[in-house]
Amino acid sequence: MPHNLDPIFKPKRIAVIGGSKKEGTLGHKIMHNLIRFGYEGIIYPVNPKTESVLGLKCYPSVLDIPESIDLAVIIVPKEYVGDVIDQCGEKGIKGIVVISAGFREIGGEGIERERKLVEQIRKYNMRMVGPNCMGVFNTNPEIHMNANFAPAQPLEGHIGFISQSGALGAVILEVAHHLQLGISIFTSMGNKADISGNDLLEYYFEDEQTNLILMYLESFGNPRRFLQIARKITKDKPIIVVKAGTTEAGAKAASSHTGALADSDTTIDAMLHQCGVLRVSTIEEMFALGMAFAHQPLPKGNRVAVLTNAGGPGILATDAVISEGLSLAKFSAETEDQLKELLPEEASIHNPVDMIATADQDSYKMALEIILKDENVDSVLVIFVTPILVKSIDVAHKIVEVLSKHQFKTVVTCLMGHEGVLSGVEKLEKHKIPVYRFPESAAKALAAMETYKTYRQKEDGTVRTFPVDKEKAQAVFAKVKEEGRKSLNNSEIQQALEAYGFLFARCIRVQNAEEAIAFASELNTSIVVKVQSEDIIHKSDVGGVKVDLRTEKEIRQAFAEMHDSIKKHYPEAQIEGYTVQEMIKGGKETVLGINADPKCGPVIMFGRGGIYVEVLKDVSFRIAPLTDMDALEMIESLKSYPLLKGIRGEEPVDIDIIVEYIQRLSQFATDFDMIKELDINPFMVCNSPDCCKVVDARIMLK
Ligand code: ADP
Ligand code: MG
Repeated sequence: MPHNLDPIFKPKRIAVIGGSKKEGTLGHKIMHNLIRFGYEGIIYPVNPKTESVLGLKCYPSVLDIPESIDLAVIIVPKEYVGDVIDQCGEKGIKGIVVISAGFREIGGEGIERERKLVEQIRKYNMRMVGPNCMGVFNTNPEIHMNANFAPAQPLEGHIGFISQSGALGAVILEVAHHLQLGISIFTSMGNKADISGNDLLEYYFEDEQTNLILMYLESFGNPRRFLQIARKITKDKPIIVVKAGTTEAGAKAASSHTGALADSDTTIDAMLHQCGVLRVSTIEEMFALGMAFAHQPLPKGNRVAVLTNAGGPGILATDAVISEGLSLAKFSAETEDQLKELLPEEASIHNPVDMIATADQDSYKMALEIILKDENVDSVLVIFVTPILVKSIDVAHKIVEVLSKHQFKTVVTCLMGHEGVLSGVEKLEKHKIPVYRFPESAAKALAAMETYKTYRQKEDGTVRTFPVDKEKAQAVFAKVKEEGRKSLNNSEIQQALEAYGFLFARCIRVQNAEEAIAFASELNTSIVVKVQSEDIIHKSDVGGVKVDLRTEKEIRQAFAEMHDSIKKHYPEAQIEGYTVQEMIKGGKETVLGINADPKCGPVIMFGRGGIYVEVLKDVSFRIAPLTDMDALEMIESLKSYPLLKGIRGEEPVDIDIIVEYIQRLSQFATDFDMIKELDINPFMVCNSPDCCKVVDARIMLK
């Protein structure tokens, strides 16, 4: 069945409404591009003011065209777009690209104009790119359509490109052309009034010519749908997204650790990570990665060989390789023997191989061949610094020659300098060998390929559903809502979370030291005393937590000190009472959290807990619902992961238990979308299920 975007990307007949013979107009540029690129179908310019455009018969309106039309490209003044769409509707045209501007982007009346436009599009069952866009193209030889007004001629290839910015789109096309990055389909999305980035992703995924997707994004319309779609696509085609960080004006007032740490950019980052999308923050980086992905095979592993004619760059490259999480390949004895024979005595035959400044093009050729044969090498980073006697073009020539025979390993190059290496750079670009200015960019590209490859090989994981008492938790939330409250008290939090399988440290509410002493003797362990007050969010901040109290004397003293400290730090605080808790010993403090993101939905946080969470910021985020693999990754990505695994003879904690609790929290978050923020801090973890307990928690509702 044909896709409903086919009329836009695979049209047999195109009407260019507003096509013009006047040079310098967009209507002329579109006509010119369509003709110059050699469109396979038929072009019908529509313009009541002229009889022909660039040698093609021109029609006063689409209704005058005798044949049926698949795509209308509209470049008329904004006031006429509505009428033109009606005519297209009457004509039965299903694909629309509105280049014209003057819609939502100008605010005011533009917003209303766009709303009406979308209404028309829906009414006629059309699909529309734009308005306020630069156009589209498809280089598929059977279509060969360039309906966009950027001056650069498209280069055929396999990159699907989506741009949210028109102006940047034009720049990107020019640079892509220069770097020999061939594009299959290009869309400038404009205002995304009908067709969204998500719709395009789905279409590009189906497109056989496309095997890599690059996106320039300013905003996500529906990140949850993006997550679903991208998860499926990245198993097959890599997606690289330039998404500038959204620096929110003014920190948001959050009353929880999770809320404070989960800003919208962190959330987007987590979301992209979760679906295997490679995020870059600059267009430059997008091209650095794009070159490698488009023109080289994915490396089989992370072992990199560095081949250079100068020591300094070799060291920089080595540092970059290691800091990007890759490793330096260890050559076989045979490789080192052969390199020894080939290179002068002063050269270094170990990885990084420094052939020293006397190395000429033949040294590059032979050394590269030797290294590529080594089974311990997955990818090679070739560095060339202009010495006096060797020309970059000759070295480039030899690299091209070697690679024409070895297409199975990943090779990236770095020609350092400017004037002296221009011709070499050009040669490599022309032959689709990724070439970089500095070794760091080359290492970044290799690392991105490795990251993607690892993601693709990873198991999908499953979203577990635990048997829980949903009704019980529901009843708690209903009661809080009924009473018009926004936060749950301790016993409500305990009831709700216990219904989802969480264990709590044993505790009671007391009014004085004597009651605490009685409870302590009952428990037969040391206790913790905490102040209870609606006014106090973080109790330790005001000296409101006293831990590991063993004797009556210690307990009495703790009460007295706490009283004084709170009077000093927070005289107005209303003290409702005290919580006495069993002291949990030997556990590690972690934090579990939920933050409701307005667009992404519930975001789950896990990390190193305790009173310093915001300072240490050793936390990770994922969008709920989470799979077991997501949960495991969250844990493994922490800096303090080794602490959980146990260092210096410490007992390791049971990671599987944490994986389970993260998923339980994910289920809780998914079941109750009224939760605005939740903190469990600390959540004590250890090596058996019965000692993993909630010690302190807060839940705020929307
Ligand atoms: P708040 O976060 O309001 O300051 P917490 O109840 O989280 O108060 O206590 C602060 C810190 O005190 C915890 O991070 C933990 O180190 C310690 N603590 C509190 N309760 C216990 C307990 N029951 N067992 C062990 N340590 C505890
Ligand atoms: Mg706490």
